[in-house]
This record gives sequence, structure tokens and C-alpha cells, in this order.
Amino acid sequence: MPARRFFIGGVHEPGDTVEVAGPDARKIRAVLRLKEGDALELIDSAGSIFASDIVDARDGVRAQLRERVASPERERLCIDVAQGIPKGQKMDFVIEKVSELGVRRIVPLLSQRVQGAPGDGKIERWRRIAKSAAEQCGRHDIAEVAEPVRFDALLSTFGEYDAVLFPWEVASGAQPLRELLPALIDGTHRILVVIGPEGGFSHEEAEGAARAGARVVSLGSRILRTETAALVLIAIVQYIAE
Ligand code: SAM
Repeated sequence: MPARRFFIGGVHEPGDTVEVAGPDARKIRAVLRLKEGDALELIDSAGSIFASDIVDARDGVRAQLRERVASPERERLCIDVAQGIPKGQKMDFVIEKVSELGVRRIVPLLSQRVQGAPGDGKIERWRRIAKSAAEQCGRHDIAEVAEPVRFDALLSTFGEYDAVLFPWEVASGAQPLRELLPALIDGTHRILVVIGPEGGFSHEEAEGAARAGARVVSLGSRILRTETAALVLIAIVQYIAE
């Protein structure tokens, strides 16, 4: 991502004057040492990229959006991931990698075998990681990191998706993905992938997910780490869909 490209809040039009705040303002002034009249590329929350000029960098950074140079990326396929919250810093890795893969939304999942709910500080850190990953890989948007949800609350959202994929290493007789996915995702727009924590899902959770409409799938004979599973499944879905 160009060093001078930064995300700004809100949806904008050329001609708007906007404020770049916080760490980005400090980076512009103290690291890049940019000043009034210098150029920036600013991305608004709709994913539009604007060529912009700094109009004031004395206290904070204000810039005028000169022209829209790129419109929002129209992803044909929106993939959300509900990730059973793993121990330690593994969630940092999951958020960075699924962000690079273009995931729209990450839902930290409090399933039965998750050990402890994350504090607010951790959620804020995960959001910074998603922003940083978006900047690094040149996305026009930032993956949303939702507030943690309990398993049953997640089940009630399944109806919002065209397909819900529930990888479960205990599943017996699951149809191979190469046979299941083409028909399942053909023409779909919104997919949810649900990944268990290190201890996996209970039978009760898997049965509840299937009743709520999820497709229980296998990722093969080897047991993947929780931080590997989402990457594998998302990459397979995107390969088949796009
Ligand atoms: N329960 C297993 C255990 O304790 O060894 C491991 C669970 S695995 C580390 C974490 C999650 O990754 C699982 O809940 C599942 O969602 C997914 N997963 C890993 N390997 C899989 C496979 N071969 N098939 C389907 N899902 C898999």
C-alpha cells in the first residue's frame, strides 16, 4: 500500500475537507514529515480512494479531497468468519491473515471450549491489527472485528447468509468440499465460516449448527490448528467462487 494512503471515517465526495486523527496524523507529521500542500491518498469507509492535498498540518492534519481516483471494490462474495477465540495471541494471527484474504467481518466466538472472554483492550488491539493488515495489503476497506458473541447468538444470525460452513473434524461421511462447494456457493453473495477453538466444537454445538442450517464439512483427514482452519477454508471458497 502506498506509504501515503490512509483510511478516514465516513463517506465523502471530492471537495470535502477531512481530519486525519490519531496515530495516522502523527505518522503523517512526524514520520513522513508532510506539510501543507503535500499530497495524500485517503480511503473513506465506502472504499473510495481520493487524491487529496494537506491544507493544514500544524496541529493535527486536515486535508481536502481533490478527486476520487478509485471507487469501492465490489467484492462479488462477502465472507464472514466466526472464529472460536483461541488462547494467547493466536487471534492476532487469524485476524491479520483473514484480513489479507479479504474477509468482510470477523466475529470472535465464545463457544463452549473457549477459555475466557477477551477484554476490551484485546478487541481494540484486534481492530488495530485489521486496519494495519488492510493498509499493508492495499484493501479499500478494513475487515470489521465485531463484539464477541456466544454460540447460540451466532446460530440466530445464520439466516442472514446464503451459506454457512461449519468445519468439524469429527464429522463422519461429510461430502468432499470439491463436490459440495461449487453448487453451494454458485451465485451466493454472503457466506459465514464458523471455526472452533483449540478444543474444537462439542457434538451438541455441531448438531445445533446443523439444525440452524449450517453445512458441516471436513477439511480432510488431518487435524488443522484453529488458526490454520479458517485460512484453508476461505482460500478454497475463494478459489472456487472467484
Ligand atoms: N478438537 C480437535 C482436538 O482437540 O484436537 C481440534 C480442533 S481444531 C484444532 C479447531 C477447529 O478447526 C475445529 O473446531 C474445526 O472447526 C477446524 N478443523 C481443524 N481440522 C479440521 C478438519 N480436518 N476437518 C474439519 N474441521 C477442522
